[in-house]
Amino acid sequence: MTEKQIVVLGAGYAGLTAAARAGKRGRVTLIAPESRILHRVRQHETTAGLPVNRPAIAEVVRGRGVRHVRARATGLDLAGREIVLDNGDTVAYDTLVYALGSRTAWHGVPGAAEHAHPVERAAEIADRLRTAERPGTVAVVGGGATGIELAAELAEAHPRWTVRIVTAGRVGGWFSAKGHDHVHRVLRGLGVGIHEHSAVTAVDAGGLTTATGRIPADLVVWAASMEAHPLAAEAGLAVTPAGRAVVDDHLRSVSHPEVYVIGDAAEVTVPGTGTLRMGCATALPQGRYLGKVLTGRTDEPFAFRYAAQCLSLGRRDGLLQFIHGNDSMRPAVLTGRAGRLAKAAILKSVVLSLR
Ligand SMILES: Cc1cc2nc3c(=O)[nH]c(=O)nc-3n(C[C@H](O)[C@H](O)[C@H](O)COP(=O)(O)OP(=O)(O)OC[C@H]3O[C@@H](n4cnc5c(N)ncnc54)[C@H](O)[C@@H]3O)c2cc1C
Repeated sequence: MTEKQIVVLGAGYAGLTAAARAGKRGRVTLIAPESRILHRVRQHETTAGLPVNRPAIAEVVRGRGVRHVRARATGLDLAGREIVLDNGDTVAYDTLVYALGSRTAWHGVPGAAEHAHPVERAAEIADRLRTAERPGTVAVVGGGATGIELAAELAEAHPRWTVRIVTAGRVGGWFSAKGHDHVHRVLRGLGVGIHEHSAVTAVDAGGLTTATGRIPADLVVWAASMEAHPLAAEAGLAVTPAGRAVVDDHLRSVSHPEVYVIGDAAEVTVPGTGTLRMGCATALPQGRYLGKVLTGRTDEPFAFRYAAQCLSLGRRDGLLQFIHGNDSMRPAVLTGRAGRLAKAAILKSVVLSLR
């Protein structure tokens, strides 16, 4: 009897966790271009020029039946069950775990793709700041968690630069009153200019045009929102209007049940919890669950409840926001050094839990 080919596409938190766990009991092919984990939740630290330890994928899957093919998928033939790689090879599968994650969404804002730097280009942002002839203004677009972490980190690392955070709504507006107030207090304390209700309508070489006026900037960092990798939609997998794969309660594509989709690439709805947001916090448990499914250790539907949200606010401060299982806010928060230590502990647990 020939062995079923299990292929995992993408080695982010979701794909790598699924591959490492499935590889405990069987053979898996993992396809992703990088040799070290991307570790996107620490990319704001890289933008600030801080060293980030990114473990080697080979270490994470050591001793497991995982073959890592370092390549990028350029095509997915769902009818022929084959992945086309950028090196010209093709890889056949019987079961595919699609975990290509997400990337910066420009939302068609004129000039954004040309003039703004997405957070994925973290090392380039760090270089621009380090090698600039004189300090100037950096505008961070996006008042969500990524934008807040970036603005705080950049302001702390580059006190001679002016840092502005610019958003269409409120900065950290979804946190409890205590959480929201803490974020604003820390940002203001670091000298960050806060521009709320200022939807960006255009970006050019001199800065931003917004709903409330012009914001000059020498460097624009874009963290406004993320969109799913386009390969799923291009290949003909059933996707939502936003491009995330539609999956059933076992995280299988509703159009192609031999394809599981996990992490940011999938729109997962859990009864009692709701539709999960894109996040490491939701990608990791999906990867763990799939590891169990692929090794025959569960046939239960995927279950998930939220526990907390956490933010780093520079190197000395942080926020741990307690939440209900459905992601709604509780009033309680941990702030300051306690919040910072909680975030550091969570980051440590992310790396440990990959295997
Ligand atoms: C600065 C920052 C801070 C964040 N902080 C938090 C946080 O505190 N908490 C939280 O929950 N979330 C946070 N997030 C979000 C979190 O990082 C993402 O939701 C998470 O990385 C999604 O994991 P994933 O496995 O689905 O995909 P990703 O981590 O995006 O991984 C995708 C994988 O697919 C691979 N890939 C992409 N294209 C191809 C291709 N064509 N062929 C082969 N492989 C490919 C990539 O190389 C990678 O291995 C943060 C994000 C950023 C940018």
